[in-house]
Amino acid sequence: RAKKEPLRRCCYYEPEMDEDVRNRRVLQADILNALEDQQFQLLYQVQCCVATGEPIGYEALLRWMHPEYGMVTPDRFIDAAEQNGLIIPLGEWVIRQACRDAASWSKPYKVAVNISPIQLVQMDLPRIITESLLEAGLPASRLEVEITETAIIDDKLRALTNLRRIKALGVSVAIDDFGTGYSSLDTLNSFEFDKIKIDRSFLADCCDNENAQAIIRAVLALGQSLGLPVLAEGVENEQQLALLRAMDCAEAQGYYFGKPGEYREGDEGGNSLQFASS
Ligand code: C2E
Ligand code: MG
Ligand code: MG
Ligand code: MG
Repeated sequence: RAKKEPLRRCCYYEPEMDEDVRNRRVLQADILNALEDQQFQLLYQVQCCVATGEPIGYEALLRWMHPEYGMVTPDRFIDAAEQNGLIIPLGEWVIRQACRDAASWSKPYKVAVNISPIQLVQMDLPRIITESLLEAGLPASRLEVEITETAIIDDKLRALTNLRRIKALGVSVAIDDFGTGYSSLDTLNSFEFDKIKIDRSFLADCCDNENAQAIIRAVLALGQSLGLPVLAEGVENEQQLALLRAMDCAEAQGYYFGKPGEYREGDEGGNSLQFASS
C-alpha cells in the first residue's frame, strides 16, 4: 500500500458511486466507530532545548490502532476526517486526552496539540479547551496549540477571534510547518504567536544545501526580531543539531531526540546524557 494513499476498504462494488465518495463514506463510518471503540491513541514526541538537550515539552501525535490495518498515521485519515467533519469530534477527543495525559506526568512538561483548520473556526473551540483543562486539572500554561499557516487563510476573522480567545486563556500558540504555506509572513503578522516551528523540509538537507541553511538562518533572524523562539522540526542527526546550535536555534524536535512513542516516566527521550558530556 502506497504511504500517501488514503485508507480504503473495498468490500463491495457500486458502479454508480464514485470511488472517492464511497471510500469517504466507509471511512466516515469507520472513524465514528473507532472513536466509540477507543481505537485512537496519542503518541508523544519530545521537544528539546538545543543548548542543553533537556526536554521542554511533548507533541501529541494521533494514531489509529486499526483492528485490520494496524497502526495508521494521520496522513491517511486526517484529510478525510476534515472533509466529512469528523475532525471536530476527533479533534475534541485529542484535546481532552492530551490534557488528561499531561496532567498525569510527574514533571510539568508542556503538551502540544495539533489543531485542524476546521476545528479552528468552530466557535466552541475555546470552550472545549477550557473544559478540557479544568477536567484534567491542567494549568493553561502547560498547553500549547499548533496551527498551520493555512488555518488562518479560509475564514481569517473567525480563526483569529478563536486564537485570541485561546491565548487569553493562557494557552500558547505555535505556528507549525512554518515556511510551507502560502503566506507565512502575513500569517505571522496577523497574530502574536508564541513560537515558530520551522518545517522539517528545511532541515532535511540543511547539511549540504546552502539554500536551506540560509532559509533556516533567516527564519531564526525573523524569530529573533519578533522575540519568538524557533523550534526546528525533523532533526535526525548530530550534524543538523550542531548546525542549529551554531545558529542559536532555541528548540528542536525529531528522531534524533526521540520518535513519537508512549510517554513513560523516567524515559522522557531527550538526550541529556549525550549533552552533558559534550
Ligand atoms: P506535524 O504536526 O508537523 O508533526 C510532525 C510530524 O513529523 C509527525 O508525523 C512526526 O512523526 C514526524 N517527525 C517527527 N520527527 C521527525 C524526523 O526527525 N524525521 C521525519 N522524517 N519525520 C519526523 P505524524 O505523526 O505522521 O503526523 C503528521 C501530521 O499529521 C502532523 O504534522 C500534523 O499536521 C498531523 N496530525 C498529527 N496528529 C494530529 C492531531 O491530533 N490532529 C490534527 N488535526 N492533526 C494531527
Ligand atoms: Mg505539529
Ligand atoms: Mg510540523
Ligand atoms: Mg507536518
